[in-house]
Amino acid sequence: MEKETYRILLFYKYVPVKNPEAFVAEHLKRCKEIGLKGRIFVGEEGINGTCSGTIEQTDAYEAMLRSDERFSDIVFKIDESEGHVFKKMHVRVRDQIVNLSLEDDINPNELTGNYLSPEEFLKEMQDEDTVVIDARNDYEFDVGHFRGAIRPDIANFRELPEWIRENKEQFEGKKILTYCTGGIRCEKFSGWLVREGFEDVGQLHGGIVSYGKDPVAQGQLWDGQCYVFDERLVVPVNQTEHVIVGRDHFDGEPCERYVNCANPICNAQIICSEENEHFYMRSCTDECRVHPRNRYFIEHEMTVEQYDERMAAIEKFRNETYVSQ
Ligand SMILES: [Zn+2]
Repeated sequence: MEKETYRILLFYKYVPVKNPEAFVAEHLKRCKEIGLKGRIFVGEEGINGTCSGTIEQTDAYEAMLRSDERFSDIVFKIDESEGHVFKKMHVRVRDQIVNLSLEDDINPNELTGNYLSPEEFLKEMQDEDTVVIDARNDYEFDVGHFRGAIRPDIANFRELPEWIRENKEQFEGKKILTYCTGGIRCEKFSGWLVREGFEDVGQLHGGIVSYGKDPVAQGQLWDGQCYVFDERLVVPVNQTEHVIVGRDHFDGEPCERYVNCANPICNAQIICSEENEHFYMRSCTDECRVHPRNRYFIEHEMTVEQYDERMAAIEKFRNETYVSQ
């Protein structure tokens, strides 16, 4: 029997939604009836979602959302897959449908940077008076980004405004381009840059995922992969070449494989090979490795002896090779 084709939808729209609580309750019910899985955030400023289902299910969802005139022109970015990429269906209310904690929030319908098509973005990013700022989190940048893009030294998107202010001189008089996964974060971030007084601000329309599929841009000058917020974790972007920029957390070797730290309190995304995942018990630090709720030794039903043996092996290896983790 042929495998059924599934689709993954990525979508957002900034549009006023009155009473998001009521909207969410009804929306969740309908998503469940359809059989969709994923994560959708709704707030007074709009909707932001990603979900998976069979073609029939995703078609039904697209039709359902578009039948609401507020969302009749919403853009769905579509990927194919062999199954669901989410375990459950969540629809939740959020004050902000993306995390950009600004003192005064930005409404992208009123203020945002210039929209650049993938083709325009490719051309403009190669201009020497242009700086490209990645508008995502560090763990997203680490596995892939535009060649030469600036990685703001922040742990969370919320810290970005402060970081820009502190580094302002780097960008003065330059054209600023910014990009994110699907475009939603840049709509606000580029608007914020305009409000901060930067005059020439462009944003990649449709985000990295559209850029990788564009027949002209073909993902050119993207190095690595694109981090995504579903079970795939990373997806390819550049159709013309593949440069690996991700580095194994434990040995620094080129790597694009993500796992979550086995310490449930930490849960950090770490890049590592399968071999290192097992050797280091999928734990990002010693502290995580000895955490009483560490999932790795529970999953692998390790005995105390096996655990002690492994810890000793890690210690021995470390003394021999001076690897810090
Ligand atoms: Zn950890």
